[in-house]
Amino acid sequence: MQFHHHGYVSGDPRIQAAAGVGIDRPTDLPDEVDVLIVGSGPAGMLAAAQLSQFPGVTTRIVERRPGRLAIGQADGIQARSVETFQAFGFAERIIAEAYRITEMAFWKPDPADPSRIIRTARALDDPTGDISEFPHLIVNQARVLDYFAEFMANSPTRMSPDYGYEFRGLEVTGDGDYPVTVTLLHTAGPNEGQERIVRAKYVVGADGARSKVRESIGCTLAGDQANHAWGVMDVLAVTDFPDIRTKCAIQSGTGGSILLIPREGGHLFRMYVDLGEVDRNDNRSVRSTTIEQIIAKANDILHPYTLDVRNVAWHSVYEVGHRLTDRFDDVLPDERGTRTPRVFITGDACHTHSAKAGQGMNVSMQDGFNLAWKLGHVLEGRSPESLLSTYSAERQVVAKNLIDFDKEWSTLMAKKPEEFEDPAELENFYVSTAEFPAGFMTHYAPSALIAEPTHQDRATGFTIGKRFKSAPVVRVCDTNPLQLGHQAKADGRWRIYVFADAAGAGTAQGGTSPVVDFAEWIANSPDSPLAATPSGADRDAWFDVKVIYQQEHTSVDIGAVPEAFKPQVGPFKLTYLENVYGTDPSADIFELRGLDRNGVVVVVRPDQYVANVLPLTATAELAAFFAPLLRSGRTSAV
Ligand SMILES: Cc1cc2nc3c(=O)[nH]c(=O)nc-3n(C[C@H](O)[C@H](O)[C@H](O)COP(=O)(O)OP(=O)(O)OC[C@H]3O[C@@H](n4cnc5c(N)ncnc54)[C@H](O)[C@@H]3O)c2cc1C
Repeated sequence: MQFHHHGYVSGDPRIQAAAGVGIDRPTDLPDEVDVLIVGSGPAGMLAAAQLSQFPGVTTRIVERRPGRLAIGQADGIQARSVETFQAFGFAERIIAEAYRITEMAFWKPDPADPSRIIRTARALDDPTGDISEFPHLIVNQARVLDYFAEFMANSPTRMSPDYGYEFRGLEVTGDGDYPVTVTLLHTAGPNEGQERIVRAKYVVGADGARSKVRESIGCTLAGDQANHAWGVMDVLAVTDFPDIRTKCAIQSGTGGSILLIPREGGHLFRMYVDLGEVDRNDNRSVRSTTIEQIIAKANDILHPYTLDVRNVAWHSVYEVGHRLTDRFDDVLPDERGTRTPRVFITGDACHTHSAKAGQGMNVSMQDGFNLAWKLGHVLEGRSPESLLSTYSAERQVVAKNLIDFDKEWSTLMAKKPEEFEDPAELENFYVSTAEFPAGFMTHYAPSALIAEPTHQDRATGFTIGKRFKSAPVVRVCDTNPLQLGHQAKADGRWRIYVFADAAGAGTAQGGTSPVVDFAEWIANSPDSPLAATPSGADRDAWFDVKVIYQQEHTSVDIGAVPEAFKPQVGPFKLTYLENVYGTDPSADIFELRGLDRNGVVVVVRPDQYVANVLPLTATAELAAFFAPLLRSGRTSAV
């Protein structure tokens, strides 16, 4: 965390200096905004938190509830989400309050007495131990939203949700600076029941499975209707079931299964209790299943163990439907390429699936992460509007893969023990697909934002199109061993990781080597992407350039390190030294990530996905990659 460089900070350093629209941010919702986000669920809150880092952009997030979410919905946090929380600065704190999943246990009918259940298997949550350095967590969705609310309140834009506004409809007029006219209804406060018109440059629909924004752009959710119902309850109970504090898949001989999820705090747990197939003519009557019936069903399935529920924190009944929209923005298929989108949908508004794979919130947040930096770059004049057309293309594929995965998992979970050819099929599926639900199988296809893998062999461990997988290094200036990827903040900047050639660190002042030549080019060439950085802004305002030498930190003479890797920052033009690293002798990143010893450049997007891999000498290719993505900051914003 960088602070004091704009003057001494006495208080909480996580509170950033107010800037741009955050200096005199109006309390009430203004008539005109750059981005209007509808819905303060995970998708909306992450998008707002990311946009809160763009002081030149007026973003407001409206929510029909009168205040924060208090309880319910999701609790499964995948490792990819914890990596994302690291970028937003709260990974350590949420890990501290969460339940951590390390293993999963599988219980099935006892062959000797099928009326009883026995434990038949255990499976590691991260069988390779190498999926991510971050854990798989369980903590309530409301707490995740709290952390994003804190992050945006501490941001330069001093953002907070506008509660008590219900989205009713919109019209893309295409006229003027604010071409989207939105109708809202006050749902609380002195103006309750009154309509309110707001005009926006862009609208983001993060309004959940029954999205009205989706409706207003003529998008429909297609897929299979709900055909299986589950009761879910968050309870405090006394039980003799031995694995009550371990994640479990339980299948009973009497029919029905349970997914047990221990929760944070050492006592609470969640049970998804199978309520069986939903008859077509059920007409949602299954929704009236009472908590008593859910508890009774759970006790049937757990036999011979018993569950004495002492307190019910939350419960619900939901039917599983796997549905997806055909597009994630307002550009009709026959309009593709003729115009850029003005309205987007994210999260459950685009894709719905069962809760049991613990995916919805996680994937919804990544929708928000993928879209928000692009909106920030376009609205701050860093990039052309064409950037916005990549959102639907990239995220629709991910949602489709998610639904295919969830269909398989929830079908297996709903299967009766006798229907399995291979009794170990469930745990084998869990182990063999572990990387997917953890959120690491997302692989964006080549596009304006993702280069062809021409030079992939120079960095085999940083797959182009996949998220940047962190690895250990040692920071030279303070000799601290740390994770390289954890230094990347959700500040909307691109990252350029320069892995030096073998000779690099030893080259005397004025000597030359591929890394020195690259540093010279990226700092001073008019073709360098950094040349687009607005004059008057810090040199690293748009690009965070880090250098990693092959030698240990003790062999790196920081005085001899090129200026390009030691940017001057803040009003006092201080030299920032924390972008220079050596290798960690116990885990050499060049070995771990298959990096070419002649030096290689790895370009990473603000949402942490690897966009390009290039030899140190391929400066023309690097310039060509960024040219269509950048508008010089030396010209006006949108
Ligand atoms: C029982 C249950 C358990 C789940 N468990 C998990 C889990 O373990 N892991 C996981 O990843 N996912 C889980 N999910 C799914 C997860 O909760 C959703 O996928 C996730 O919340 C989607 O996020 P979202 O931001 O798209 O939508 P939501 O969280 O649904 O948020 C939408 C927001 O928009 C607001 N809104 C809606 N309409 C309007 C309007 N017209 N105007 C203004 N505001 C509006 C709503 O009040 C809400 O706050 C679970 C869901 C359920 C129901």
